Amino acid sequence: MPMRSMTYGLGVLVLLSACASQPEETEAAPPETAEPSLPEPAAAAPDKLAAKTAERAAEAPVVAPVIPPTPPPVITPVSDTFTPDPVLTLCPTLTVRNAPPSNADRTVAGYKPFVRVEDAVTLAAVPVRSACLTSGFGWRGMNFHKGIDLQSDPAQMVHAGAAGTVVEAGYRDDYGYHVVIDHGGGVYTRSAHLVSLEPGVDAGAALDFGAPLGVMGNTASFSIPIHLHYEVLIGDYNNPKASFGLTPRSVFDYPFVDG
Ligand SMILES: [Zn+2]
Repeated sequence: MPMRSMTYGLGVLVLLSACASQPEETEAAPPETAEPSLPEPAAAAPDKLAAKTAERAAEAPVVAPVIPPTPPPVITPVSDTFTPDPVLTLCPTLTVRNAPPSNADRTVAGYKPFVRVEDAVTLAAVPVRSACLTSGFGWRGMNFHKGIDLQSDPAQMVHAGAAGTVVEAGYRDDYGYHVVIDHGGGVYTRSAHLVSLEPGVDAGAALDFGAPLGVMGNTASFSIPIHLHYEVLIGDYNNPKASFGLTPRSVFDYPFVDG
C-alpha cells in the first residue's frame, strides 16, 4: 500500500475516533450551554411561547430533552357506595342452568334490583355491578348448587347485599375466600370465591348495606372460572353445623322489589 494512502487512512481513523467521542461529550454538556438563551418578551402569547418552545426543542441537540411541565394528577374518588343494577342478563354464549324466567333479550323477567326475603330482609338480588348470570340455583346433574353464579369482566367488587353482621369470614378449600353475613330475621348470605377479603371483613364485624367484601375471584382448591357464588340461607345459625345447617334458597324465589 502506498504511503499516502496509509497516512490518509490513519487520518480518517483519527477523525473517526474524534467523531465517535463527540456525542458523549455533547450529552455531558449542561443543557443551558448547548444553546444560548434568547431574551423572550415577557408577555408572549401562550401559543407563540409554545411554538417557540417546540422550535427550541426541535433545534436542541439530542442531549437535553425538553421536559414539559407535569400536569397535576387526576384523582378519581373511590366510592364505596353501591347501587345494584336495575337489570340482570343471562350471560351470552352459554346455556345458563336453572335460569329464572327470562325475556327474548336474555334479561331476567320482572327483575328488580332487590328481593324481599322471608318478609324480613330487603336484599340486593345481585350484590355486584355489571355482572351476568352464569348459573342458577338447584340440581346440576348429581350436585345441588346452593346459590347462583355471577360473572363480570373485569371482575368487580362484591358488596354486602343488606346490612348485617359477619358470622364467617376466611378461606375454605371449597368456597375459597368467603363471607357469611347474618342479615337478621333468620336470613343469611354467603359470597364465595373472592380474590381476598377487604380489611375489616372479619367475624363479628357489623357491615352496612353495600359494604365492600372483596373482588370477585376464583379462589378454591380446584380450578374454576372467575365468578361470584352467592347464596341466600335461611334458618337459625345456632345449630351444630352453623352456616351448613341453614337452608339454601334461590334468590329468585323471592318477590322482586325496588328497594
Ligand atoms: Zn356457584
